[in-house]
Amino acid sequence: MEMRSRAWGLVSGARRRVDAWARWVPGSFWRWAGSGVLAIAVAVAYFLAARLSFYLKTKPDEIAAFWPAAGVAAGALVGLGPRARLPVAVGVLAASVPANVSGRWSLSTSLVFAVCNVVQVLVIAGLIERYFGSAFRLDSLRQVLGLVVAAMAGTAAAAIGGTVGAVLVEGSTASAMTIWNHWLASNVPGIVAVAPLLIGLVSAVRHPPPRSEIAEGVVALVALIALSGLIVFLPREPLAVVALVALLFPLLLWLGARCRPVFAAAAAFIVAVTIVWTTTFSIGMFDERNFPIAERAPVAQASILAVSLCAIVLASLFSERRESEARLARSNMMLQQEQNNRLMNIDAITGAIAHEIRQPLAGVVMNASTCLRMLANEPPNVEGARDTVRRALRDGNRASDVVARLRALFGKKPIANESVDLNGLASEVIALSSDELQGNRVLLTAEFDNSLPTVVGDRVQLQQVILNLLRNASDAMSTVQDRPRRLLIRTEREEGERVRLTVQDVGVGFNPGAIDKLFQPFYTTKNDGMGLGLSISRSIVESHQGRLWATQNDGPGATFCFSVPCGQRGRADVGAN
Ligand code: ADP
Repeated sequence: MEMRSRAWGLVSGARRRVDAWARWVPGSFWRWAGSGVLAIAVAVAYFLAARLSFYLKTKPDEIAAFWPAAGVAAGALVGLGPRARLPVAVGVLAASVPANVSGRWSLSTSLVFAVCNVVQVLVIAGLIERYFGSAFRLDSLRQVLGLVVAAMAGTAAAAIGGTVGAVLVEGSTASAMTIWNHWLASNVPGIVAVAPLLIGLVSAVRHPPPRSEIAEGVVALVALIALSGLIVFLPREPLAVVALVALLFPLLLWLGARCRPVFAAAAAFIVAVTIVWTTTFSIGMFDERNFPIAERAPVAQASILAVSLCAIVLASLFSERRESEARLARSNMMLQQEQNNRLMNIDAITGAIAHEIRQPLAGVVMNASTCLRMLANEPPNVEGARDTVRRALRDGNRASDVVARLRALFGKKPIANESVDLNGLASEVIALSSDELQGNRVLLTAEFDNSLPTVVGDRVQLQQVILNLLRNASDAMSTVQDRPRRLLIRTEREEGERVRLTVQDVGVGFNPGAIDKLFQPFYTTKNDGMGLGLSISRSIVESHQGRLWATQNDGPGATFCFSVPCGQRGRADVGAN
């Protein structure tokens, strides 16, 4: 344990020293170092791929039949994007000369070939960038076909230079057309078989696939390698070819359908290598008895092109399908959510209306029956009846105000933008609910800051918030028997030009775990509750650019506060939330 921590200390010390050193080195150094490493990596890969091609040549005096080096260059540049242009070009140039010289070509021809190879990769990547931007994707059929077309165009152009080099510089005896053809026929399959693998690998490093997909892809690739082994050992019967194709295509389909295109590209690469290998060494079905030497190279090139094209096209088609399925699922989910929200809104609106107008309507009914009683007296108490009718009118107006404001709240309409004195508003609410508070034996204390600035907002909505907080506090104390049911309502200034209103009770309080639920619609612990008061209150306060929150008291009970900016004009419309 101690040794581990000492080792860890050494490692982290070394890392700190490297970090400190790295900070002194300018950023441009790292960029150059990165480019240098990339150029060397491309050069090594290009050289090895080129050497392999020469090694696998079917005729010593020919251009190599399969040129995967072109795929290495194109794959690296298209995969890494335009910023890799210089390092890739330098890498190709540096590797192409020695590779060709060691092939059989003279130094001057090799130089011409090297320039052609650089031009080829720059034309391919340039075309891709021109038509598809710098982020090439193997999961788009258009882009995959674009890669094939760009590979053919770039190679056809570079092959002209290569032909000139072979005929004029090297003095090759083959016809110009044959050389041009060979360049094209060896480079295009090389690009189509190798470039997608590199492009896919770069994208998989940037966005790694899930582990399950990697496992599945690796299993399929191992099966494919085993199948490729069969090519070597199978009897050289025509039926064996049918059996192989029958086994190969389900595997390509499997990879295309269930894994990212990089796996299909890897499969195409494995098949290409197998074909080249068996062709060169005359093993299995591509041996000299099946195909004469002159036919073997074109057959191998056509097979590589066919299998690679088939694999990457299948993979891109399946990827597009998967993507559109995912898009459909996403939009279905959003639709479902939208529908739920609507239903929820309808529920919320009806619930909120019932919740908010219950009290004023009860006031109207109570005042009307008191009025009737007073008029039925002998002699009728006309003065008292007039008072109760006034109170009934007040409650009726309040109910209609509440409905109007609720419509504004849910209906995305602008609401009042008036100057409101919170002290005055709180006093009105206390007066309105005094009967209810007294009935519940609540001892109310008001501590108002007399220097409180006004706020800009909707008085009826803010009144609803305060009323709701008072009513909740009173409800929370309705079962309290062992202590006075004290309720404190306080207003005060806050820093940052804000005012705060606090309602503190000594009731049952709430479960600390439920603090987030309190403000959710339809959360209630009351038998006759609707669970809408706090959620509506919070949206009202937030529409005033304020905040409403709850805390559990140190002693019994809870404290609810809201704070809103004072004297602020032109606040956002409530309906916009
Ligand atoms: P309702 O009053 O219809 O239940 P609210 O949204 O106003 O709806 O309140 C939701 C819940 O929050 C209440 O049921 C109660 O559990 C809790 N709550 C609200 N105020 C208090 C308070 N002062 N003390 C304890 N719990 C409270």
